[in-house]
Amino acid sequence: MRDWHAGTVNAIRLRGVVKRYGSITAVNGLDLDVPEGTCVGLLGPNGAGKSTTMRLLTAQSIADEGEIEVLGFRLPEESKQARAQCGVAPQLDNLDVTLTVEQNLRVFSYLYRVGRAERRDAIERALGIANLADRRDTRVDKLSGGMRRRLLIARSLVHRPRLLLLDEPTVGLDPQVRQELWALIDALRAEGTTILMSTHYIEEAQRLADTVLIMAHGSAVAAGPPAALVAEHAGLEAVEVYGSPEKLAEVEAAAAAAGFRARRTGTSISVLGVEGADGRAPAGERRPTNLEDVFVLLTGEEIA
Ligand code: ATP
Repeated sequence: MRDWHAGTVNAIRLRGVVKRYGSITAVNGLDLDVPEGTCVGLLGPNGAGKSTTMRLLTAQSIADEGEIEVLGFRLPEESKQARAQCGVAPQLDNLDVTLTVEQNLRVFSYLYRVGRAERRDAIERALGIANLADRRDTRVDKLSGGMRRRLLIARSLVHRPRLLLLDEPTVGLDPQVRQELWALIDALRAEGTTILMSTHYIEEAQRLADTVLIMAHGSAVAAGPPAALVAEHAGLEAVEVYGSPEKLAEVEAAAAAAGFRARRTGTSISVLGVEGADGRAPAGERRPTNLEDVFVLLTGEEIA
């Protein structure tokens, strides 16, 4: 069963999905579309339900309510067929540290039934994508954190999946290594691989995702291309005002009275959508709005 959405086929389609753990509702009526050939970012604070959503897509968890389709297969009934065409890079590194880079890839090529004739090429291709060809004989426990992450992604690509699921692909990595991973993911995206990526790094979502779905408390609070989300919720320009807590409270109240949206950032307040409102906007530093403004506005989370 395929769903046509705005003229494209959806690699993933969720409708009204609910997942409960006892009294906690981790996913609460989620709708999600991932059109083929696009990269969608699930962005949300800790506990928003991103990892649970990823687990539902691999049928590691079973939804209590709602419909899930992956590559045209219904879950959980047809999860085996769906999984055969998905690449999954989990948040927790589960590489076999006693094996070499190449051996890890080979094991996965068996698991995913890559034909004997194609196996060598598939492994070489994965090594090339991850830029690990010269480390093929290195045992995984001798690799750096960034190399392990690249291998984790390469391993998920061995069987040329139609869909790639990346759960927090750069979590815990230093900024320079994160940039390397972004380049890798961007190259996959440019090749037309369909990607669903969860992240709590706003910059990661802004840079890599064609469409971002912002999650809070298990539900989608907004979805769209990053630039469109920013324009819709935060306008084009913000004024940043610094001062004492009393002054910030005053500015916030005045902004609300004048019909502006505003958000706090520790020692400052940003009054949003002030373009063309010179007389009514407070004095302060002008700057372009960004996805972080939207995130804070909609999730109520402060960025450290
Ligand atoms: P993080 O970035 O911290 O992983 P997340 O957005 O991925 O956050 P989830 O891990 O999906 O969020 O968790 C959503 C909610 O469900 C949280 O309140 C979490 O404590 C709860 N939860 C997740 N898995 C389980 C489980 N197996 N048992 C009980 N509660 C769970």
